[in-house]
Amino acid sequence: MAIVPSSVEGVPGPDDSAPEAIQAKKVRRADVLSARESSSDRKSESSLRPQNLAEYVGQTRTRHMMEMSIAAAKTRKEPLDHVLFYGPPGLGKTSLANVIANEMGARMHISSGPSLERPRDIIGLLHQLEFGDVLFIDEIHRLNRIAEELLYPAIEDFAIDLTAGKGHATRSMRLPLPKFTLIGATTKAAMLSNALRDRFGFVLRLEFYNLEELSQIVGRTASILNVVIEPAAVEIVASRARGTPRIANRLVRLVRDYSQYKGHATVDAETAKRALETYQVDKNGLDPTDRRMLSVIIDAYAGGPVGVEAIAASLGEDADTVEDVYEPYLIQCGFIQRTPRGRVATAAAYVHLGKTAPAGQLSLKLNTEPEI
Ligand code: ADP
Repeated sequence: MAIVPSSVEGVPGPDDSAPEAIQAKKVRRADVLSARESSSDRKSESSLRPQNLAEYVGQTRTRHMMEMSIAAAKTRKEPLDHVLFYGPPGLGKTSLANVIANEMGARMHISSGPSLERPRDIIGLLHQLEFGDVLFIDEIHRLNRIAEELLYPAIEDFAIDLTAGKGHATRSMRLPLPKFTLIGATTKAAMLSNALRDRFGFVLRLEFYNLEELSQIVGRTASILNVVIEPAAVEIVASRARGTPRIANRLVRLVRDYSQYKGHATVDAETAKRALETYQVDKNGLDPTDRRMLSVIIDAYAGGPVGVEAIAASLGEDADTVEDVYEPYLIQCGFIQRTPRGRVATAAAYVHLGKTAPAGQLSLKLNTEPEI
């Protein structure tokens, strides 16, 4: 008998008689291929997060640097220097912060830029710190100016500067803090003030993962979730995961659910392919919205250049979502280039959509304007 999962987003329930047709309508991109964290990700991610450097796949250069610096800091019996990780969502910034805390044998306090709105929020957080603790601030580019200024002495001199009283009676005092490690994460490094960025000992960019690394992550996730999956199916899932572990994890859950729905004990290549077709994920990991974005640039703006605001308006999305979620992977695939005058579709994008690039126009556009 087929096992029908009841609580999985976008997966047909027991009453669906034609799952493929229905799924395509029900599943929104935000549920399947967005690298942003959804509520179902949150539920499963804690069990999937790597706990130590050995379990953390890929990001070889960053991992190696962290490995050496952690070992050196442990020898000196000092906390690790402050670290800033930047890169698109879902690439493992939070996971790596967690791994660092574990490797240092430290407690990790988790917060985020938008939640540290009032001075007392950040003072309260700093006040809880003990020697060696890791303070993780996600979306650190969204800290307001007051919070940021309170943070400067905390990370530079391990102290909080407080003022009390008003007018002539104003007194300022400096309270010492134990030495700790701040780990900041951001998808928008350019929005960080120079003053804040300069205070990090390490500023490290996380990269998209290659097929081999994603295959390892898919295999690991499948084994944690007790999903029996054939190597050929692992590769299919990995190749459509947009270079992003969070999406790889989500696709594993989707193929598992599809396979259970169909009553298969093992996920084979055919099942994985059919499951992903159901969710309209193509061979390159592009979904209908990605393809629509390429079509907008090619058809409505003659291949570009076109500003991100205009693309966002055509897609009915906000410009931030286009820039943070859709565009990085399309750039990584070589389908779009960023130029000072806007986004340009590349020859590969025309080929992907089965269209012909206007003669001469494309190479002229791409050769005259460097990528920014
Ligand atoms: P970010 O903070 O960059 O948005 P996360 O650290 O939350 O990304 O990663 C999302 C999920 O992807 C994690 O829960 C974890 O399961 C998986 N993941 C991320 N990076 C790795 C990695 N290098 N190795 C194994 N799994 C990873």
